[in-house]
Amino acid sequence: MPYRQPARTTTRGIRIRWIRVAVLLVVIAAIAAALGDQLPASSSSTAASPIDVLRSEHRGRRSALGDADGAVPDGATVFDDEIPGVGNLDPDLRRALRQAATDAANDGVEVFVDSGWRSPEYQNQLLREAVSEYGSEEEAARWVATAETSAHVSGDAVDIGPFDATAWLSEHGAEYGLCQIYGNEHWHYELRPEAIAHGCPPMYADPTHDPRMQQ
Ligand SMILES: [Zn+2]
Repeated sequence: MPYRQPARTTTRGIRIRWIRVAVLLVVIAAIAAALGDQLPASSSSTAASPIDVLRSEHRGRRSALGDADGAVPDGATVFDDEIPGVGNLDPDLRRALRQAATDAANDGVEVFVDSGWRSPEYQNQLLREAVSEYGSEEEAARWVATAETSAHVSGDAVDIGPFDATAWLSEHGAEYGLCQIYGNEHWHYELRPEAIAHGCPPMYADPTHDPRMQQ
């Protein structure tokens, strides 16, 4: 008897522990299920490459700011002056882009503008979105400049799409003085007139290596 009493409590103790474990497992399962409901939405946005995310940001789909601030509607070309994102580009850059786009069209390649000139407000919004997307200012800086440093705000940069257009430009752009500037942004082009004679300058790995971004 004196031996059974402790044995019983031990059994009861084990049973209670098992019930606790079972309850815990149910709770964990419920939490996992709740998270599971949310995961597809958030993982689909993180599954998209930074490029996709950035491109959609560039197009202003998630933007509260509109065309007047530089959001460019789908299907815009370098000939669409009435769109501020295109019309406010540096005239020399736009001229070069139009020549290139005309010759690309003759090769069967359509050149579209995903983003061009941007207002400082729009640029800052893109930066804020990038910081929340990438989790830190350091990582966001690899993709989005500030309003003070962005060549988009000064009208000196354009983001081109789709992929066959950027592929065409990577091959022929230098003939027009159009150069890819950053290794991680195959869509971002700026005018480098000296490229017509000497070819494009070496690219920066990403904008953080660009001396213009050091402010
Ligand atoms: Zn760009």
